Amino acid sequence: MTEKFKRGDGRAIDELRQIEAKVGVVPNADGSAMYRSGDTIAIAAVYGPKKMHPQHQQDPSRGQLRCDYNMLSFSVSERIKPGKNRRAMEISEITKWALEPVLILDKYPNQVIDVFIDIIQADAGTRCAGINAASLALAHAGVPMKDMVSSIAVGKLDKTLVVDLTKEEEDFEEGEGPTDIPISMTHSGKITHMQLDGKISAEQLKDAVDLAKGACAKIYEIQKKALKDAVDFEGGK
Ligand code: UDP
Repeated sequence: MTEKFKRGDGRAIDELRQIEAKVGVVPNADGSAMYRSGDTIAIAAVYGPKKMHPQHQQDPSRGQLRCDYNMLSFSVSERIKPGKNRRAMEISEITKWALEPVLILDKYPNQVIDVFIDIIQADAGTRCAGINAASLALAHAGVPMKDMVSSIAVGKLDKTLVVDLTKEEEDFEEGEGPTDIPISMTHSGKITHMQLDGKISAEQLKDAVDLAKGACAKIYEIQKKALKDAVDFEGGK
């Protein structure tokens, strides 16, 4: 890792964008949260646990988590086509994989927990922001969880590892170009999701995971504070 690498916005290589997190932003939901990292903003709303419909999808041995990620048309300057596309379907699925390990789903036979994630503004890192918001919203809904999940994208810009890429950094084309590694983990350090878009050596991947651990520890503190602030304000929701 070289400390001399200059990032477009002047951040240190292990420095996160400004983070804001708040729960209770969607009063109709059973639990909800907003998570902002720089210019990326995710809103998550949780409904359930409730009876699974359609009925033929019920599983009598356990409950199910359904995640629906959606990047809104106006979230980027080049308006995107509304509705489901392959990218949204993939991110919905990986969000489910990232969160499922901390839930105790066998407590809820035949039931479903629905998590809707809307990205209202996007500047890269939306899947991670969505997972951070969803983890908070599940906790806010009072869904029993073994741990929180925190998520961050680590990137390799040419040869240098950095955390929390902006869209400008994701589009970096010098040298070896960009590598994007979104990682989600529990507070206890169990990785629940990792993706890799680009190229990296096994050695540098270990450094990337270490950077993600440091970043997720900071994100966890912000998530914890958001929940604590809500308890103080709402008197336990
Ligand atoms: N993006 C866009 N239009 C799209 C999809 C993505 O402008 O249809 C932008 C948006 O800023 C997004 C970024 O590209 O955050 C990176 O998208 P990617 O698929 O890598 O996922 P993310 O980093 O958001 O998890």
